[in-house]
Amino acid sequence: MARVLVVGAGPMGGLPSALLGRRPPGPSPRRVVVWDQARGPGGRMATSRSPYNSRCTADLGAQYLTFTPQYSERHPSFYDELLANRVLKPLTSSVEGMVVKEGECNFLAPQGVSSIVKYFLRESGVDIFYEHRVTKVFLRSGKWEVHRETGPAEELDIVILTIPVLQILQLQGDIVNTEETESQRSEETEAQRSEETEVTWQPRGGAEIRTHVV
Ligand SMILES: Cc1cc2nc3c(=O)[nH]c(=O)nc-3n(C[C@H](O)[C@H](O)[C@H](O)COP(=O)(O)OP(=O)(O)OC[C@H]3O[C@@H](n4cnc5c(N)ncnc54)[C@H](O)[C@@H]3O)c2cc1C
Repeated sequence: MARVLVVGAGPMGGLPSALLGRRPPGPSPRRVVVWDQARGPGGRMATSRSPYNSRCTADLGAQYLTFTPQYSERHPSFYDELLANRVLKPLTSSVEGMVVKEGECNFLAPQGVSSIVKYFLRESGVDIFYEHRVTKVFLRSGKWEVHRETGPAEELDIVILTIPVLQILQLQGDIVNTEETESQRSEETEAQRSEETEVTWQPRGGAEIRTHVV
């Protein structure tokens, strides 16, 4: 069974985990696990709750989601699903400094912005391990050997890095030494124009590593 590790339990870790978890196993079944260095999910979409009143929450990063016409063509089902499950609702009040462009709509998460990530992680059905900080990634005989701050290293077939690029570049091992491919170079150029782009590392003779640049 192929072992897949998603590093990061922010929105970019939650959504691919849900997509992988929903895919029928097919002829090559896989086991997906998520590791995050934090104590809970959300990443920069985290929500803090008052210890005295659980209804009193503060979103620490993202406040609202903007549905642009471009996204409405590419990812309509994600928004429809979150709206249908009451994870999102249209943002009707104004937020100081918010610029609303023509054709765009904004949504907020009534249970806190981390509920979006929690929803996808719950849907994914995958195993999630917190306080697992990835420190080194090595390529050994076509498999990825992933080290964490505490605990033994593990061997994986596929690693999906969703952590911020600067933190990826701080990882020790074979990631920073891998050669850029033409597609990566062109996608990085694209990343400068686009808000989100998937970047793939394909080391010589090795398996792929993918990350999402936001
Ligand atoms: C103040 C602020 C306001 C924002 N407002 C908005 C907004 O209104 N609307 C909007 O759409 N976006 C907003 N954003 C941006 C939005 O939060 C990010 O685009 C989004 O969270 C990126 O998701 P991600 O999963 O790529 O990364 P992150 O959310 O950063 O998640 C990465 C995860 O990786 C984990 N991680 C990092 N390094 C390691 C490691 N070595 N090992 C294991 N785990 C690791 C982190 O703990 C984290 O959970 C805002 C961001 C900030 C900071």
